[in-house]
Amino acid sequence: MKVIQIPLLRDNYGYLIVCEKTNEAAIVDPSEAEPVLRQVEKEKVTLKAILNTHHHRDHTGGNSGLLESLPLQVYGHKNDEYRIPGLTHPLDEGDEIRIGELKGRILFIPGHTKGHIAYLFENKLFCGDTLFVAGCGRLFEGTAEQMHSSLNKLQQLPADTLVYCGHEYTEKNLQFAMTVEPNNKKITDKLQSVRSLKAKNISTVPSTMAEERETNPFLRWESKEIHENLKSRFPNLGSDPVSVFAKVRELKDQF
Ligand SMILES: [Zn+2]
Repeated sequence: MKVIQIPLLRDNYGYLIVCEKTNEAAIVDPSEAEPVLRQVEKEKVTLKAILNTHHHRDHTGGNSGLLESLPLQVYGHKNDEYRIPGLTHPLDEGDEIRIGELKGRILFIPGHTKGHIAYLFENKLFCGDTLFVAGCGRLFEGTAEQMHSSLNKLQQLPADTLVYCGHEYTEKNLQFAMTVEPNNKKITDKLQSVRSLKAKNISTVPSTMAEERETNPFLRWESKEIHENLKSRFPNLGSDPVSVFAKVRELKDQF
């Protein structure tokens, strides 16, 4: 299995997933069609499917253009049947899909939108705008409870799971992470390495689930430092994981 990251729009990432045995491929979240078609041509693969994580236009904007050029299957959550252009295969939690000989499993992870899914192929997680490197998506359609439970589902995946998210937001996310957990050395170290990658114009995505558990403030609702930090600023805040998560999300919205 090969994954080719394609930078799209300003800070989106599309991912071309290739089955190296059959040369068949799928594109995750094509924001636009042209750069995807160029990459397909360059790699000499047969594009078979579009895998949308959710309906937002910066993740589906290329669907129509690709469908004009190629007959493709279009996958997305069943809640988004009328919001994902060209959807042919509505999916739900636990469904399996195939690209050549590759098998992908669907995880239903609402919160950012009510029809958000992730695609898991081997140890590679394509999670759209739910989990970012050191961050998470905004709660546009879902509740903090839903998002917390979706993130909790993702963080149960093995430590070596590679996190392929929808945007290059890492540096800003880590800057925010430092404001809620300033003594977490893993965060300061990671910010330093991310800055040197950015200076060389190298992507900071993917990361691993192990790194996310150590540095992502939206997975660290058990962190003593985050609890104490929030309690000192918001004495009435509950100490349960959902309240902590919801407050961190609220602070990030204002950051
Ligand atoms: Zn989105």
